[in-house]
Amino acid sequence: MNVKSIRSRPRIVFVKVKEALSRSGLPDLDYALNPYMGCWHSCIYCYARIYTWYREAAENWGEVIVVKENITSILRREVKYKARGVVGVGTITDAYQPVEAVYKLTRKSLEILFSAKFHASIQTKNPLILRDLDLLVENKNLVDVGFTITTLDSQVAKIIEPRAPPPKARAKALETIASHGVETWVFMGPIIPGYNDDDASIEELVRLAKETNSIFYYDKLRVKDFMLKGDHVLRSSALKSKYYNWNKLFSKIEHYCRIYNVKCLPGMEYKQEKPSTTLDKFLKRK
Ligand code: SF4
Repeated sequence: MNVKSIRSRPRIVFVKVKEALSRSGLPDLDYALNPYMGCWHSCIYCYARIYTWYREAAENWGEVIVVKENITSILRREVKYKARGVVGVGTITDAYQPVEAVYKLTRKSLEILFSAKFHASIQTKNPLILRDLDLLVENKNLVDVGFTITTLDSQVAKIIEPRAPPPKARAKALETIASHGVETWVFMGPIIPGYNDDDASIEELVRLAKETNSIFYYDKLRVKDFMLKGDHVLRSSALKSKYYNWNKLFSKIEHYCRIYNVKCLPGMEYKQEKPSTTLDKFLKRK
């Protein structure tokens, strides 16, 4: 293992992998491709740490980024014998987090996928994706791009997504990509009681979906063990979410989607979650 660092943080670790395309548990995706593990954006709600096998990155979320240095050579081999399908790019990391500017593994992977006629479904929070606009436009029949925007309020975003690019920058990047005819979507998730469940937040994002001709996906906060530990910022929201009237919130979202005539779908409805200590179990322990 070779350890280097970019500026002072994060710590960059290089690993060799045996597989590039892994089977995805999401019904809309056949495969998942994650050129990195860990994510500099450090969203406080990030579930990806639970699915990250590289322990140091999982336990020091945002501080350690693992670069799969041989992923493109493995991918080049795999696309020759694996059945064509839809590849989720960045399912447990943001494939356009800052390290991508240096290593370009996401761009190189996309080039390989497109030349083999695989479809890429990219989800990101980072306008760095605009660097690859040429590639996206050239292959617009093989790609869709989703931006996760939980709120357009930069103050709220700073609390819950401390190192991710400001939401307005994400919205602008989404507009640019959509204006080039690439299929786009907005992912409003997680919706966290007390942070981004107000009417204004929902309406603004539905309107953005309308303006960019994007599908609007939404998802509620899914309570995980790490949120309940110590003084985690989301602890009270996580506890509150147990009694929260989610159906009322979803009706409100559907209401705005009807007003703006936007296609709205629950984003994570089919996600297969790993068993985790639920809030129920937590409360029983108390
Ligand atoms: S951008 Fe995505 S993968 Fe990265 S920390 Fe945030 S939620 Fe996790």
